[in-house]
Amino acid sequence: MRTNECDPREQPGLESKSSETNYRTFFETIEDLVFVADLQGTLLFTNEVVGHKLGFTREDLQGKSALELHPPGNREAAIADFTEILAGTRRTSSLPLCRKDGTELFVETKAWLGKWDGKECVFGISKDVSKELESQAMLNSIFQNNPALMAISSIPDRRFLDVNEALLKTLGYRREEIIGRTSGELELFLDPVVHDSITHNLLAEGRFRDLEVKVQARDGRILDGLFSGEVIESAGKRFFLTVMIDITARKKAEIQLEETILALNESTAKANSLAAEACMAVQVKSDFLATMSHEIRTPMNGVIGMTGLLLDTELTAEQIRYAQTIRTSGESLLEIINDILDFSKIESGKFELEILDFNLETMMEEFADSLALRASERQLDWNCLISRDVPLALKGDPGRLRQILTNLAANALKFTTSGEVSVTASVLEESAGDVLLRFSVKDTGIGIPPDKIDTLFEKFTQVDSSTSRKFGGTGLGLAISKELTSMMSGEIGVDSEVEHGSTFWFTVRLAKQIGASPGSPSVSTGFDGRRILIVDDNPTAREQLSNLAIALGMSPTTAPDGPGALVELYAAASENARFDFLLVDKDMPGMDGTLLAKAVRSDPRFEVTKSVLMLPLSRAGERTSSVQDGIDASLTKPVHRHDLKSTLEGLLTSNRSETPAHGTVPDSQGGARNGSTAEKSHLRILLVEDNTINLQVAKGMLKKLGYSAETASSGEEALYALAAMPFDLILLDCQMPDMDGYEVARTIRNDRTGLLERHIPIIAMTANAMQGDREKCLASGMNDYIPKPIAPDVLARKIEHWSRNRNEEPAISHAPSPAPTESGAFLSIDSFLERLTGDTEMATAILSGVPEAITQQSDDLILALARGDRAEVKALLHQTKGMCFNTGCTNLGNLMMSLERILPDLDHISNRVPLLRTTVVSTIEAIEAYLETAGQDPEGCAPAS
Ligand code: ADP
Repeated sequence: MRTNECDPREQPGLESKSSETNYRTFFETIEDLVFVADLQGTLLFTNEVVGHKLGFTREDLQGKSALELHPPGNREAAIADFTEILAGTRRTSSLPLCRKDGTELFVETKAWLGKWDGKECVFGISKDVSKELESQAMLNSIFQNNPALMAISSIPDRRFLDVNEALLKTLGYRREEIIGRTSGELELFLDPVVHDSITHNLLAEGRFRDLEVKVQARDGRILDGLFSGEVIESAGKRFFLTVMIDITARKKAEIQLEETILALNESTAKANSLAAEACMAVQVKSDFLATMSHEIRTPMNGVIGMTGLLLDTELTAEQIRYAQTIRTSGESLLEIINDILDFSKIESGKFELEILDFNLETMMEEFADSLALRASERQLDWNCLISRDVPLALKGDPGRLRQILTNLAANALKFTTSGEVSVTASVLEESAGDVLLRFSVKDTGIGIPPDKIDTLFEKFTQVDSSTSRKFGGTGLGLAISKELTSMMSGEIGVDSEVEHGSTFWFTVRLAKQIGASPGSPSVSTGFDGRRILIVDDNPTAREQLSNLAIALGMSPTTAPDGPGALVELYAAASENARFDFLLVDKDMPGMDGTLLAKAVRSDPRFEVTKSVLMLPLSRAGERTSSVQDGIDASLTKPVHRHDLKSTLEGLLTSNRSETPAHGTVPDSQGGARNGSTAEKSHLRILLVEDNTINLQVAKGMLKKLGYSAETASSGEEALYALAAMPFDLILLDCQMPDMDGYEVARTIRNDRTGLLERHIPIIAMTANAMQGDREKCLASGMNDYIPKPIAPDVLARKIEHWSRNRNEEPAISHAPSPAPTESGAFLSIDSFLERLTGDTEMATAILSGVPEAITQQSDDLILALARGDRAEVKALLHQTKGMCFNTGCTNLGNLMMSLERILPDLDHISNRVPLLRTTVVSTIEAIEAYLETAGQDPEGCAPAS
């Protein structure tokens, strides 16, 4: 220490004056206060620090008593202290010194006897400790006032030497109960090992940090603490300083937080499972609707089809009226079912558009045909026009586009009693990749009041409540159309005037097929330069026919009526530029088409001109087909490009003296547009259908259309028939037990035996028209597709098309809009029995084994799913599906089939396990109920005798 280093007693032999000078110099270098006083206490020397710290000048101190440097109240104590120090019984004095201004300076003073100027003197050296005291006081205050629990204890036994207020207060002890004791004695730590391990750590490491401990208060309360400790040194001694933060509240909050998180997790899991259940409910709802819709559609096929056949038999007027009512009611019921199904799909977000390559003209022709009969029965002019700049090779959902058109046009026909309904398609915008088309459906009907227009496109909205009574309908058609147009990036709207008619319009954006020619297909060179005169009172029809003629390479002239046509004819004759063809509408005011044709025929100048009469569908049978009438051929309105082309081609090659070569009229059903009865009767059709009612209906329809057909009621039977005799076309049911239609088609297309005609046109007939099923039909090698219930005109068109175009590519665009999935009851006992030719005994015997089998297989399936064994899942789905369909467990079979479709996605299948379970349970219940009524013990296996 500096004081010791400066102790003159440790510098022997310093007695001379020079040595005193050396002392002075030395003392001035010291930062402490240095005093030299004679034995009476009179100051002989002070260093500069004394003057500086106490505020005295050297003169003030000259001759002053050292005692006077102590506050008056301490002077006696000072005498006592210094006496003891000089006697060697005390090391230091802690008495403060007094500044000139009376304030105190805290010092630690040492003193000793020595020689100064050769005389015995007292040396004193005071160290200014005011800063240390201050920081000690501060530390003490921190210690005492700290909210953490603090203690100082002895090493190594850790007896408490001091503790702060927080510790006393928190643990509930009085100071005297703690001081001198150990935490072990007080049983402070709940775990007795903690005390020892803390001591061990402190001794070994000198410190430890943030140990979580449980501490017991005096009253038994248990506290959570975060404990830290350190070895500290003070006045040459070592102590333990320990600090504990009370984290009881934090712990509690943590626990609460954990509980909250746990509860949250539980709630989330619950919400997830509720959401999953909700999803399942939506799934179940949509499955139910699909099932129900199929269930209704299948018998409706029978009802509508049979009514059609009934109407062709000898009936009284009253019976005809009844039968017609049955048919129209059945048809509107079907429309309603389809609307509801579509809407429920849209609402559950399950509605998806297909993207297919399609030809707009073909789609529009089919659409026009589908409403032609209705229009002509109502004696309305019905026209469809595609502007010439509209690209025809497009990509999109032709089925849904046609659905919008049908909704709007069917409404237009429904709400129009006289005049016309015309549909037009035109281009609004076109880029290299896509086109924005505008379709409009214009009628001359009742119109819509302006105040009703805003709500018209909302669901279940009709202009007035009497509408549905008078006209039927659900008020869903426009709402569905709106959704569909918006899905196709378009808009929908209406302009209307009460009693003058309405124009419903909508836009859709469609992609163009890559590499396709921009507009109509290439023209037929056979007509190049041919002149055609088109006569129709309807301007839309004139434009449409002109477009067709131009597309075929002809140059058309148009006239709005008979006299106008004659003017054109005479003018042409005078220029020696006669018309090759006269295409004339039968129904025109004034001079009708027949009269005009007659007039032309009677004039030898027009000998080269061949006349084609256009008839509305419902009056096609009225045609006078003799050459004397001046008519060379006839066509059904609206006229199709293909029909116009083949009719005119026929006329070019035929002799006028013969009966009409082409363009034979459709029958009264408006089914086949062309094709003679003789041609029809030669067409060898194989009709494959396992359902007897459906078989009867289809057979009856074919007969009525002039066709005869061989029948087969299963896939195998169909293959035998094909191997045994030649056929021109197959109408093939898709869903059949054992070997379904897809398999039949694949077998035919892949035949290597040479027994089967591999290229025969195959048309699918199915109610199973979920998205993707059309592709399934085409993928299995079929050419086309007819939805059930079968519409006679669709059937006629498809047969006509494929019997003429057997080498054509499959007609994706000919495909109708999707219908619901095929589905059935949990136990379709009737069809099952049907397949067993009504053998109930055999049915009960087979069915009694089914519950166990499906339980086992569904359990195996669930296990395979859990293992993620895709191959096993696939095998089980296939096996169970086959068994279900074989035994009439249609719903379960359908479920298996739908799971097969999503097969790569095992998670998706796993999500449907609850549905699988409920379907299995319901299937078993249905089987047990049947077995019970059949007198069979559901547990047993023996069939009822
Ligand atoms: P609905 O099944 O009742 O026809 P829609 O949604 O297709 O349902 O039509 C809703 C209503 O809009 C119809 O009931 C009718 O009141 C009115 N409406 C639709 N189209 C026409 C139209 N072309 N002329 C007059 N009113 C129409």
